[in-house]
Amino acid sequence: MHDALYFDGRSGALQLVTLQAENGMLHLAGAAVSQAYRLAQVTLGEPFLHAPALLYLPDGGHCEVADPAARAALAQALGFKPGLVLRWQRHWYAALAALVLLLAVGAAVWWYVLPAAAEKIAANIPASMDRSIGASALQGLQNKLLQPSRLSDQRIAEVRAVLAEVSPPAPRHPLRLLVHNAPMLGPNALALPDGTIVITDQMVRAMYDDSSLTPAESHDALAGVLAHEVGHVQGRHSVRVLARSSLTAAASAALLGDFSAVAAGIPAVLANLHYSRAMETEADSFAIAVLKSKGWSLEPLAKTFEWLDTVNNADPQHNMPAWMRQTLPYASSHPGNAERIARLRAAR
Ligand SMILES: [Zn+2]
Repeated sequence: MHDALYFDGRSGALQLVTLQAENGMLHLAGAAVSQAYRLAQVTLGEPFLHAPALLYLPDGGHCEVADPAARAALAQALGFKPGLVLRWQRHWYAALAALVLLLAVGAAVWWYVLPAAAEKIAANIPASMDRSIGASALQGLQNKLLQPSRLSDQRIAEVRAVLAEVSPPAPRHPLRLLVHNAPMLGPNALALPDGTIVITDQMVRAMYDDSSLTPAESHDALAGVLAHEVGHVQGRHSVRVLARSSLTAAASAALLGDFSAVAAGIPAVLANLHYSRAMETEADSFAIAVLKSKGWSLEPLAKTFEWLDTVNNADPQHNMPAWMRQTLPYASSHPGNAERIARLRAAR
């Protein structure tokens, strides 16, 4: 005889009953209840260490049995056999193994499946979409960060001529150069998916006016910077970043739910920083190949990166706020770093 709480499945009222299992039957007896069920039709819910056992009855009612001894006796009477998962979770090493497996699968999806899916998506985005993404990105930049250039017409014409020199015979999109004053961006250049290349006055001045480079060296440095941007257009990097960040953001949101939009965004941002570094290397390789094919020096570009590094470290005004770096992965990664400079010098 075991005490239990009985719910008939039709009303919310609970009734105190006693349970007795004998001759293949489960008998319920209480003040207003007297029922019997075949044991074979009664189901025992998954047992938890500290929660009452749940007995599901075939007519939709159920009983809750709190007493541990009664729970064990009922499980035995019902011939309850714990399933594989139940047996696993009783052993700490099995639980740990399951956790490790879960993390491994999660990591594999994160590092291999999502990037591969993003590449597939990006490959299916038509050129017309490149143009509309480029146009809206430019609109956003012009609203917030870009002002009319203060460089002389002659200097802008020179920059345009250098872009023409480094353009491939058949670019993915017709290349278009925009020169803008952009105090917030500082010395920078970026490529939009539609073939628009934006270079800041600050970047041009860094190579021509504020540097110790000779005019020929300034030309080679600018050619390197512009070829790097052409490399981004040819590699379709911004569309690939966009596909990747949208997919990772969606995956994090699905995983973390409404827990926090910020928390959901962090993995996406981290993934993109990693991704864009690989793309930077690809764009650098493109620039190195162009400069070498023309017989131009790589050293002025290395020197420019070196100079930008010091400027950006010394003058926080040139450093964009962190949130902006994340929304503009190209702009963020252009200031040189030791690794890129070393690579340029090694490629000579
Ligand atoms: Zn870049």
